Amino acid sequence: MERTFAIIKPDAVAAGHAGAIIARIQDSGLRLVAAKTLHLTKAQAEGFYYVHRERPFFGSLVTFMTEGPIVAMVLEGEGAIRRWRDLMGPTDATKAPKDTLRGTFGTSIERNATHGSDAPETAAYEIGFFFSGLELADL
Ligand code: UDP
Ligand code: MG
Repeated sequence: MERTFAIIKPDAVAAGHAGAIIARIQDSGLRLVAAKTLHLTKAQAEGFYYVHRERPFFGSLVTFMTEGPIVAMVLEGEGAIRRWRDLMGPTDATKAPKDTLRGTFGTSIERNATHGSDAPETAAYEIGFFFSGLELADL
C-alpha cells in the first residue's frame, strides 16, 4: 500500500472545486487518509517548492500558492503516486485531457488546480512537510 501527497491549489479552492476534486479522488478508489485547509505563508511555499528555487517560474509560483487557502491531503492505495498523477493529468492545464482534473479545473501551466508527488522520496518529504506522525497515526 502506497501513500502520496496531494494539494488542491488556491485557484481550485477559490473557484469552489474542492468538493468535486475530493469526490473524484474517492470515486477513483484512492483513500483520503488525512486532509486540512491552510493558507501558506511565503516562507512555507518557498520551503515546499525548494527544489524549484532556481527555475524562472519560482517567484510567480510562490505568489500563486500563497494567494488563498489550499487543501493538503494524504492519499493511499496500490500505486497511489502514479494513480494520483494520472488523475491530475499533465502540468500544463491547457494541454491536459478534458477528463483529467487539471484539464477540467486548471486554466494554465501555473494555475493547474492540483499538486501531486512524483516519486516515493518526494511523497515522504511532502507528507512530512504538512502532516505530523501524530496526525497520521492509526489512520
Ligand atoms: N509551473 C509553472 N510553470 C512551468 C512549470 C511549472 O508555473 O513552466 C508550476 C505549476 O503550478 C506546477 C508547479 O510549478 O504544478 C511545479 O512544477 P512541476 O514541474 O513539479 O510540475 P508538476 O509536478 O506539478 O506537474
Ligand atoms: Mg512536481
